[in-house]
Amino acid sequence: MTPTLPAATGFLVSARQGVGRAPGPVFATLGAHESTAEALRTQTLDAVLVHSGSAEDAVARFGDTALVLAGELYNREELLTLLPSGSDVRTDAQLVRALLGVYDLHAFRLLNGRFAAAAALGNRVLLATDHAGSVPLYTLPAPGRVLAATEIKALVPSTADTPPAGRPVADAPRVRRVPGVHQVPAGTVLDLDVRTGTAVTSRTWAPPLSRRVMSEAEATAAVRTTLERAVRARTAGGTTPLVVLSGGIDSSGVAALAAAHTRGPLDTLSMGTDTADEFAEARVVAGHLGSAHREITVPTADLLGQLPYAVWASESVDPDIIEYLLPLTALYRALDGPPRRILTGYGADIPLAGMHREDRLPQLDTAVAYDMATFDGLNEMTPVLSGIQGHWSTHPYWDRDVLDLLVSLEAGLKRRYGRDKWVLREAMSALLPQETVNRPKLGVHEGSGTTSSFSLLLMDAGVPDADVHRAKSLVVREIFDRVVVEGLDPAVVSTTDAVDQVAARLKETE
Ligand code: AMP
Ligand code: MG
Repeated sequence: MTPTLPAATGFLVSARQGVGRAPGPVFATLGAHESTAEALRTQTLDAVLVHSGSAEDAVARFGDTALVLAGELYNREELLTLLPSGSDVRTDAQLVRALLGVYDLHAFRLLNGRFAAAAALGNRVLLATDHAGSVPLYTLPAPGRVLAATEIKALVPSTADTPPAGRPVADAPRVRRVPGVHQVPAGTVLDLDVRTGTAVTSRTWAPPLSRRVMSEAEATAAVRTTLERAVRARTAGGTTPLVVLSGGIDSSGVAALAAAHTRGPLDTLSMGTDTADEFAEARVVAGHLGSAHREITVPTADLLGQLPYAVWASESVDPDIIEYLLPLTALYRALDGPPRRILTGYGADIPLAGMHREDRLPQLDTAVAYDMATFDGLNEMTPVLSGIQGHWSTHPYWDRDVLDLLVSLEAGLKRRYGRDKWVLREAMSALLPQETVNRPKLGVHEGSGTTSSFSLLLMDAGVPDADVHRAKSLVVREIFDRVVVEGLDPAVVSTTDAVDQVAARLKETE
């Protein structure tokens, strides 16, 4: 049974040899905080968990091993077959802990999930991300103490502390303006020695580089079955999921499969702005599936005003990613009420090159290879985006099995008969109205008018056309420095102030 939220949706951990004080927890993710302390033979693992009522399920302890897990697994049944029958395993954290006992850090190669994990055993601290790094994880390792958290802001030293002398971590990028803090890459386990703070990196997943040849029928059947399994793994159990629906093929496909696994009507939700929306297209799908459908309209000025929330939640400094995430941030913030399990159609365009608007296959596969080689660290899939309103989001297209399959399909199955994402459209054609199946791609940043209104805001402030993209990048950095590095509440940080500052700075350097 899949509960509404995972046992924990974020954590701050401190693993240390001697005594010390864990930093105060600061999270954008909304939820209760629970502190735990696991005293092992040679180290103590202190943790603060963000949770919604069952924090103890996010911690597993056995002998000299303690493990903390934020997020959830999607291949539990498969994993359980690897343990002796009758193993006492009830939670995902216990399952991972038990697998660590059998496979050591190679356990993380087995997992299909959306999670970040920290484990202490002997003198070692293991920090692990899922294949996609979809739950961001950061660390500040130092001799005698390793800190790790699912949000950067939890690791920023308060002004009272002396800045800790951090250890460099090979292969893990540093975080902008927060000394000593590194982001754990996607599909990675860091194996740290708590005595020295030194790390050895192991990759547990890499995007497929080869391409598979399949017949049309074989490919569409594989996509349909694999995606169906991914949706089922995210919706099994009693709670009614909410699908954020644009009416495009990606989210409509997820909605159709989720409807098939939900007792009673599915919930769907669409957002638009006063400048643009996709309401008509989403209504067609909602009507077809019989979902309980809602629409939320956000005024454009409000939308841009929420930029600090998008940066605060995602901790990303990539202006393109922030433009994709901003409309969803506004949507989630408007979603009041109890915590929800949210399914999205996010990310299908990356393995299928859905934004690639032309016919040539070499260019298409170049786009796929490039995007799969560069997604890491952008935090595009972060659960904190919906987490700031207490919800849990999950993205079936970035399920490990779905992603492995979609990336590896030869380019001619992705673009075929002049249609983008052909294999997905074909796989979903029996479940959706034909107009939905054939609808051309529209990105959320386009359908909501976000990109154009952000550009307008900058041009109105005097930024020349040619400098707009660079200015967006500077605005996002400016806001990052306020809400992440300085720890200001996003409610007191103003988008227009940041825009004016950047515009003035650009004018000076002209
Ligand atoms: P897209 O950029 O269109 O691929 O959007 C990514 C995902 O965000 C979609 O698959 C939907 O789940 C969600 N989404 C996009 N646009 C909207 C919208 N207008 N309302 C609600 N959800 C949306
Ligand atoms: Mg879309």
